[in-house]
Amino acid sequence: MARKQDKSLRELLRVAPGRRVALDDELADSTPGIEERDVATALLELARQQLRELQYKLYADGRFGLLVVLQAMDAGGKDGTIRHVISAFNPQGCHVTGFKAPSAEELEHDFLWRIHQAAPRRGEVGVFNRSHYEDVLVVRVDNLVPRPVWSARYAQINDFERMLVANDIRVVKFMLHVSRKEQRKRLQERLKDPRKLWKFDPADLQKRKQWNAYRAAYEDALAKCSTRHAPWYVIPGDRKWYRNYAVARILVETLEDLPLRWPSAEVDPKKIVIR
Ligand code: AMP
Ligand code: MG
Repeated sequence: MARKQDKSLRELLRVAPGRRVALDDELADSTPGIEERDVATALLELARQQLRELQYKLYADGRFGLLVVLQAMDAGGKDGTIRHVISAFNPQGCHVTGFKAPSAEELEHDFLWRIHQAAPRRGEVGVFNRSHYEDVLVVRVDNLVPRPVWSARYAQINDFERMLVANDIRVVKFMLHVSRKEQRKRLQERLKDPRKLWKFDPADLQKRKQWNAYRAAYEDALAKCSTRHAPWYVIPGDRKWYRNYAVARILVETLEDLPLRWPSAEVDPKKIVIR
């Protein structure tokens, strides 16, 4: 029963190639496919167990890698998703890379140079906390490069991701979508809680003022770069329980699609005696 319902989650949240999804408040607060928080929390636990097992086989098999891209506005839940979902993976086969504003050296290279270096190897899961998409988001909104430069990047990103997939690195991308109201609440929590204050970045307020420009940039990136080979999923993010459940389930489904197998033995166990 649960499985049947879960199966459709990917279809419910995937951005069809070329389709423009309106990143509005209603979507951020929705919970497609599941209504009860308790049920989602129980299913999250189950999904985490499945992720552990699937990753173990991915690692043993060694033929495929998985790249998970996380994008969101500030306080959108990227760190929380890593804590609650990605933590199911064994650190021995999982790398998380956060992308900040590029260093002087990185700026001397093409925008994908630092990205490609962080891509997972076969057998591993790589997680991007922000990604090459910043190069068509903050870079576009703040005019960090001329328009013809950033507008050419959508096709360059699609080509890059197609190349990864052709080389057995699967790519899934999550846009954790929170409403402006929820962002305000979370930024305020950071100010109130001494354990969260360190996360408060006054620059986030500037970005909050540019909300509509970011929204347009996100909607463009999703429409242009959700492809058959590297889909974007828009995850309603106002409710953390829904976000965690949805990301975990979609990762399970993605890994289940891989034809994973245990490597064939190099020895015949029947002929080995351990004394
Ligand atoms: P945080 O995720 O809170 O640690 O913030 C990282 C900051 O780095 C964000 O403000 C991003 O917009 C910024 N950033 C990431 N990638 C780029 C990029 N390619 N160009 C400019 N700024 C970037
Ligand atoms: Mg921040």
